[in-house]
Amino acid sequence: MDITTVCIHGNRKNLDYTGAISVPIYQSATFAHPAVGESTGYDYSRLQNPTREHLENIITDLEQGKGTVAFSTGMAAISALMELFSIGDHLIISDDLYGGTHRLFSLISKKNGIEFDVVNTSKDTDLTKYIRKTTKAIFIETPSNPTMQVTDIKAVAEITKKHNLLLIVDNTFLSPYLQNPILLGADIVVHSGTKFLSGHNDTLAGFLVASTEDILEKLRVISKTTGASLSPFDSWLLIRGIKTLSIRMEKQQENAKIIADWLCRQPKVKKVYYIGLPEHPGYEISKNQSRGFGSMISFEVENEETAKQLLEKVNLILYAESLGGVETLITYPMLQTHSDVPKEERESKGINECFLRLSVGIESADDLIKDLEQALS
Ligand SMILES: *Cc1c(COP(=O)(O)O)cnc(C)c1O
Repeated sequence: MDITTVCIHGNRKNLDYTGAISVPIYQSATFAHPAVGESTGYDYSRLQNPTREHLENIITDLEQGKGTVAFSTGMAAISALMELFSIGDHLIISDDLYGGTHRLFSLISKKNGIEFDVVNTSKDTDLTKYIRKTTKAIFIETPSNPTMQVTDIKAVAEITKKHNLLLIVDNTFLSPYLQNPILLGADIVVHSGTKFLSGHNDTLAGFLVASTEDILEKLRVISKTTGASLSPFDSWLLIRGIKTLSIRMEKQQENAKIIADWLCRQPKVKKVYYIGLPEHPGYEISKNQSRGFGSMISFEVENEETAKQLLEKVNLILYAESLGGVETLITYPMLQTHSDVPKEERESKGINECFLRLSVGIESADDLIKDLEQALS
């Protein structure tokens, strides 16, 4: 089945006996047992819930994994993921991760005895030299947030397979519509469902997609034990959002390409980070490993005043955190998503007072450009 069809029909066997087209919201905390020692397959909604299960099956099909566990937020998913590791374990991680993931690793995981090597996985391809006896996994985000670095997933997968490590890929920025890391050798795929999957800036969600039954089982045990499961209503909102994932992604990336090209021509814009520009260092790898370039653009303006003016003067475009929704949002990573990343570390990656991030929505590209034009002038 084509991915656009999976978005809409998902896994039909779960539909109820009334023929309802929309999957029912099973707003039930618990489920009655038919007899002693018997179960309908549903016992308690922290463990299983039919609405959430339907959503998990759709995500599994979209990512072509073995199974999915849905969490209340992306960070809840990544926190649960870290329970796979124990004190003394070592992970190799990309140096440009979502700010919240960076905070989780440095504030919580380190305290819990997990060790990290932070590497620019888009440039430093010889990751073997960082592998220790205690290394358990490589965690990458590609394209990365917010500097849009592209890591060659297949190349990293060769290393993880050879050394028996887990390859974990945060696939939030392209969504399963444009990139499927499991098909390229990843073991676990992470999503902030809050972003493209939900698509409407109205719901928080997170997913872990496992490539094997063994990993899936471990993640399920962690989820039911730690308890940050996605609610039935939020699961339903995600199911509803995903129905339009394909057309949203197509329109968003069409708009993004137009806006990236336009930004490149603006004298006040010094640098444009968009993986769909042929001069982007990750362009060729992206063409090989993804089906599109997505709708995330970062750019650097000439000075801090211009950055602030732009943020304050945009009307249609909203100055807000988050990404992936139908509304175009502009973010100031230095003060928002990456405010907890130490200054020197942040600035060494170019995330400074001139650096802005745009999540392009589905409005008219002309209107978006007009808004940017008046805000820049
Ligand atoms: C937003 C985001 C997260 C965290 O997800 P939440 O749903 O906000 O908890 C993780 N990774 C990436 C790449 C993100 O953009």
